[in-house]
Amino acid sequence: MTTPTAPATALPLRPELAGEVPYGAPQLDVPVLLNVNENPYAPSDEVVATIAADVAAAARGLNRYPDRDFLGLRGDLAAFLHRESGVSLAVEQIWAANGSNEVMLHLLQAFGGPGRTALSFAPTYSMYPEYARDTHTRWVAGRRNEDFTLDPAHAVELIEREQPSVILLTSPNNPTGTALPLEVVEAVLDAAARVRVPGAPDGAGAVVVVDEAYAEFRRAGTPSALELLADRPNLAVSRTMSKAFAAAGLRLGYLAASTALVDALRVVRLPYHLSAVTQAAARAALKHTESLLAQVDALRAERDALVDWLRGQTGPSGKPLLVADTDANFVLFGTFADRHAVWRGLLDRGVLIREVGPAGWLRVSVGTPGETARFKDALTDVITDVTNEQEA
Ligand code: PMP
Repeated sequence: MTTPTAPATALPLRPELAGEVPYGAPQLDVPVLLNVNENPYAPSDEVVATIAADVAAAARGLNRYPDRDFLGLRGDLAAFLHRESGVSLAVEQIWAANGSNEVMLHLLQAFGGPGRTALSFAPTYSMYPEYARDTHTRWVAGRRNEDFTLDPAHAVELIEREQPSVILLTSPNNPTGTALPLEVVEAVLDAAARVRVPGAPDGAGAVVVVDEAYAEFRRAGTPSALELLADRPNLAVSRTMSKAFAAAGLRLGYLAASTALVDALRVVRLPYHLSAVTQAAARAALKHTESLLAQVDALRAERDALVDWLRGQTGPSGKPLLVADTDANFVLFGTFADRHAVWRGLLDRGVLIREVGPAGWLRVSVGTPGETARFKDALTDVITDVTNEQEA
């Protein structure tokens, strides 16, 4: 006889999770994967050999818990940021976790919470409201302009009205690729400093997070918010090894901020949250910064060529395609009366992109030259098909 089980609906789920589904793009087995902004280049044999050797060395100590404060890895990340952006940071100003997703969750755990508000500007990365939900933080989304830039007057007005404890800016933004000028970040920082955060001491102000997951792909002349860290104790700039370092499978995100801000994150992290294997593999990949950044340069050139090509195409409406300026490793383009039909048509031709962003737009990640060629052929074909169907 089987024991009767209560229906799933009888679980004592938190009411705000009722009907929620796990976040994530479809993981389909398709020849050309251009849907989640991964780096298309697998690690080279040299990178794989270093990771294998360093992970083997770490494995000899796996009976012990890992280095809880991972100062070695934090030092390597500080050295990388200095090299990449010219900004000098102390080891104590760096924090890391299992992907920048976890870094962001730490930020909300430390600075959000019941009675507090987190704020960002849509369209933007769709995980932010989930971090807020999971930390019982109220969520408010302002808006970006038609061209996906951020109007500092709107940002300041919303910050003054909502009095958030955490403000999330994304630069370059996902899914639009738009980078923020430092003047806009500074206007937000100034407004943030005036916020009265519930339960915080007078003058504490809000924390401003600039999510720079794609920063290494920015065009020449586009600044990084790292440059503002020296005078801004409430600023956190987050980065990831998922994109530029071709290591999405590693799960290593990190941030730079004041020592006081990092110390607050150390309070909410789980003990030993970064495994010895993760620390060893990340440090091994960082030994190959030079060759990995050369690959980033190639991807930036491929991205700019793809933008030019897309701008030369005519959509099913008979008008040229719109393409958002991008400092990331992806391109948002459109607009299509039926974007799902275009997405589906590409998938039928073996090319998976992402149906995301404002109505009518689609996002494609930058692939290898071969993958880009397949995407272009497939898109040309799909546009012809959709145009013919309209005329039929
Ligand atoms: N921020 C942005 C803007 C992203 O697009 C992503 C991933 N797509 C992340 C953060 C999270 O990246 P990860 O957890 O892999 O570091």
